[in-house]
Amino acid sequence: MTGPTSQTHSGAGSPFSRASSLRTLTCGDLRLTYLPDGYVQLHPLSWFPESSPDYWQDKRDHLDAEGFLIGSVGGLLVEQDGRALLIDTGFGPHRIPAEHTIPPLGRLEGGSLPDSLSAAGRTFSSIDTIAFTHLHDDHVGWAFGAGGADAGPVHARYVASEKEWQGWNMPRSAASRLRGRIETAGDGDEIFPGVTVMATPGHTAGHLSYLIGSGSSRVLVIGDVMHSPLQVARPQWRAASDADPAEAVRSRRRVLRELRRPGTAGFGGHFADVVFGNVTEDSAGPHWQPLR
Ligand SMILES: [Zn+2]
Repeated sequence: MTGPTSQTHSGAGSPFSRASSLRTLTCGDLRLTYLPDGYVQLHPLSWFPESSPDYWQDKRDHLDAEGFLIGSVGGLLVEQDGRALLIDTGFGPHRIPAEHTIPPLGRLEGGSLPDSLSAAGRTFSSIDTIAFTHLHDDHVGWAFGAGGADAGPVHARYVASEKEWQGWNMPRSAASRLRGRIETAGDGDEIFPGVTVMATPGHTAGHLSYLIGSGSSRVLVIGDVMHSPLQVARPQWRAASDADPAEAVRSRRRVLRELRRPGTAGFGGHFADVVFGNVTEDSAGPHWQPLR
């Protein structure tokens, strides 16, 4: 085949200003499904301090009715021959109003990942491996029993980089559940058949991306290397939550080089309702072309 192909479920409004619904994409013999959990509002000028009000005047289609960028929050299910990998696990069953989140954020809401899993024909107990891009709250939400003792995955192995595990303050309730299940992975490691690690530090010290497939049919899971498709044309922009902004820029440029290779699609988990796409370039410059 010539590249990954997708099926989508469309809704009303601009896909750049709404959270993603459940979406599937085929990559060789792997089936990828985006599992929505919720969304986060990002204040554009605070999230990207180097942007200007004039810039956003021209990007109204990327902003919701309240003037925020919309970040989808969820996980990516990867299936092959009955086996299942889940990359990131959403925010969990919580709704945080804007006045209780940190200033660059508006509302942050999760809760629908179990229903999304069910719609994909899965339950948490049927997941073999949980892999994390990094261990921020909007990525680990359902992994460690956030919704009660029976809500989170039980049988899976849990994979993240060594630096992420070292820097993570494990909830006491998770300690016994995770005993013997934690694994570390680094650049080039294969964590699931057809899925290899690409280290992309900067947003956090141990941030990982995941390259799914091979040859002319690949999908790169970029995690929080980018939070908006607009960063394809502005990789030098600092994001408010990048721990090491200079390192984050280097990782963005590395990811963009990979995404420009033939047959390579991207998965931007926070990319509104355009989570699957290609990086293309025309007279208007580089941009994110959603897969439809
Ligand atoms: Zn995130």
